[in-house]
Amino acid sequence: MSGKVYLVGAGPGDYKLITLKGLECIEKADVILYDRLINPKLLKYAKENVEIIYVGKAPNAHSYTQEEISQLILEKALEGNVVTRLKGGDPFVFGRGGEEALLLLEHDVPFEIVPGITSAISVPAYAGIPVTHRNVSSSFHVITGHEDPLKNKSSLDYEALGKLKGTLIFLMGVKNIESISSNLIKNGQSTERPVAVIRRGTTAEQKTLTGTLGNISQKVSECGFKNPAIIIVGEVVNLAQSLSWLDKRPLFGKRILVTRTRTQASKLTEKIEALGGEAIEYPTIKIVENDDHTDIDKAIGQIEQYKWIVFTSVNGVRFFFDRMHKLSFDIRLLKNAKICAIGPATAKELNDKGLVVDSIPEEYRAESIIEDLKDKIKAGDKILLPRADIARKVLEEELIKLGADVDNIHVYKTIVPQQESDELISLFENKKIDMVTFTSSSTVKNFCEILGTENLELLTDVLIAVIGPITAQTAKEIGVKVDIEATEYTIDGLVDAIVKYL
Ligand code: SAH
Repeated sequence: MSGKVYLVGAGPGDYKLITLKGLECIEKADVILYDRLINPKLLKYAKENVEIIYVGKAPNAHSYTQEEISQLILEKALEGNVVTRLKGGDPFVFGRGGEEALLLLEHDVPFEIVPGITSAISVPAYAGIPVTHRNVSSSFHVITGHEDPLKNKSSLDYEALGKLKGTLIFLMGVKNIESISSNLIKNGQSTERPVAVIRRGTTAEQKTLTGTLGNISQKVSECGFKNPAIIIVGEVVNLAQSLSWLDKRPLFGKRILVTRTRTQASKLTEKIEALGGEAIEYPTIKIVENDDHTDIDKAIGQIEQYKWIVFTSVNGVRFFFDRMHKLSFDIRLLKNAKICAIGPATAKELNDKGLVVDSIPEEYRAESIIEDLKDKIKAGDKILLPRADIARKVLEEELIKLGADVDNIHVYKTIVPQQESDELISLFENKKIDMVTFTSSSTVKNFCEILGTENLELLTDVLIAVIGPITAQTAKEIGVKVDIEATEYTIDGLVDAIVKYL
């Protein structure tokens, strides 16, 4: 019994420009085939045991011909799989989607076409160019630039194209821009007609070059503009002067490495993307439950004796309450204890559990907790600290000095995830990273361990942003300079500091 194939348009580059239906097809696929212009971030929505096949061109690797790709899709479908074929932009706009569908039809394999946002109109939109505009352009024409109008026997009718007053949009045309523009001029277009060439539209690397039909090819060769780029010819190009918006966002063009755990990265990632930056997630920490439950179970068993419970991280809250739940302990048992949270995120996690926090220190770090609690606790008070194995010792030590009876228990452990350092090193070597963010001392330590201390000089031209002074100090001790330090030690504070710096 054959499976089913979805030919899906994945949009022009910004991974959020995929349709809901396209995303659904990624989520349910057994096999995904994708090529060069697909944003790999989309693949993280696939299910765990999916087979992912890259069919684009890669240096030193076999590259597939169109026939081989079509054949592979067919084969995978005949094995009974749900196959999602991701294509850049729209599958039927110079995407050869038709050919793939025809082969499936021939073999009675069911398929669906999921249209995508084509680069032909979205890339100009991201550059502030509307392809039609009242009184300026009342049609647009999408044309292949792949065929050299001078050399080959072109199937394009340049005599007709030369007469068009609407907006002309050439895909795959950068290589041939000289002959395209001269042929348009030869067939009646003005040398003064405005032209924009937009490269890697809708991504952090988007660049626009503007000129006229008369001078654009010279400009393109001067700055070495290469594919993927679209050429847009017409008076609408002038609107970009007023309407360009992408590059006005505060983090535009910045590729920022996020080193938090995979589960915690999303908040920082979302904020970076909302401000126009590109977040690259590279988790340097993995958080796991402490499998030795002796201490936590003992603490939970005597929970009514604690005067204070101090939470110094969101994870501390999660793992502590998960264990309470597993042991069938009710939160009403906490009624004798006052609760302190190190900062607003930890407090929010407690609020979500239905608990009101009694105390948040002024600065969100251990030293400030001591300041906060020193007048509130008495000698002999029992205090519980449910924390990570690597939490700083200072809190426990200072509370003991104040006469408290402290139970510092390790409810979770942090480990360095298995990561390929080659991938990280090549990101830096190829100048694909503008900034690295660190949200805790352990992210710095683990990052440097993965990168290798012998490679720290790769960070010389990269900006380093840290969440607060403790993380800054750890970085400096290892030999990593710090450019940006948040004054409020939260994710929002970090993002604010980055925006201010830039
Ligand atoms: N089916 C695709 C087009 C495939 S042809 C679509 O609908 O968008 C590939 C050409 O598309 C490239 O040569 C380039 O001209 C254009 N293109 C695709 N993505 C682009 C991007 N992000 N920026 C600029 N041009 C892009």
